[in-house]
Amino acid sequence: MRFMADEKGTLYLCATPIGNLGDVSSRLLEILETVDLIAAEDTRQTLKLLNRFGITKAMTSYHEHNKKAKGEYLVKLLMEGKNIAQVSDAGTPAISDPGEDLVRLCIENDITVTSVPGPVAGINALILSGLSTSRYAFEGFLSVNKRHRNEHLNSIKNDTHTLIFYEAPHKLKTTIDDMRIVFGGERRIALARELTKIHEEVIRTTLDGAAELYSEKSPRGEYVIVVEGAKARSDEAECFWETMSIKEHVEKYIAEGMSSKDAVKAAAGDRKLPKREVYNEYHKEG
Ligand code: SAM
Repeated sequence: MRFMADEKGTLYLCATPIGNLGDVSSRLLEILETVDLIAAEDTRQTLKLLNRFGITKAMTSYHEHNKKAKGEYLVKLLMEGKNIAQVSDAGTPAISDPGEDLVRLCIENDITVTSVPGPVAGINALILSGLSTSRYAFEGFLSVNKRHRNEHLNSIKNDTHTLIFYEAPHKLKTTIDDMRIVFGGERRIALARELTKIHEEVIRTTLDGAAELYSEKSPRGEYVIVVEGAKARSDEAECFWETMSIKEHVEKYIAEGMSSKDAVKAAAGDRKLPKREVYNEYHKEG
């Protein structure tokens, strides 16, 4: 859908606090005060924020269930020159929240889209996790459908990036169990809960450790799950035989089903040694 008009307005994607209202920026307040309209995921929630800072502004709802029709309406207003701030319940719009479609619609209609940056739960959890921050992947919410969840987890089980998931507290235990099956219980994780709030807590453990923890108590509050990435294949290959003798190395391959000839060849390849040397070592007495 494309609208036509001369003077267009701007869409401001406005991040709001994820708990602590002190995280509101002066620019956020300025934009909320000056736009013509606020498109809010939940107008009651946003009203609390506006009241707290003494802002009176026209609002309309823009959420998952009205985003098609309301998106077109908002674009029409933008084409007529109105400036609109889009806010979600908490955090950054378009990150596991409405906004992505509206951004696309604005781009299609050559409407300027800009951002008023602020909190994102996933990024705050990542930086507090103690896990690698150099390469990470945002995975959002897993599907409630068991098959889709497992397909999703299986598709990323060898991903070496640190993985960031959002999860509702009542589904946390199931998610941890599903992750244990696919990633293995040794995988390190950080459970970042109630970020920026009074009861903020970061539990740094493994998937096994988390399962044990929540076998005794129920998860409460909002959680981000940060999961260590898979070990890079070359690291894995280096690691597993480093502490083995040549004989043990060959025997491991035989136990996995290789012929002794192939096992010698594979071990020699791993160690970058002549096959003859590995063969002799394997057949050495004692
Ligand atoms: N757009 C938001 C953002 O920028 O992070 C995310 C919205 S998503 C619908 C809500 C999820 O974010 C929650 O289920 C939880 O996983 C995470 N979340 C939001 N606030 C949080 C907080 N204070 N502490 C931990 N996780 C939080």
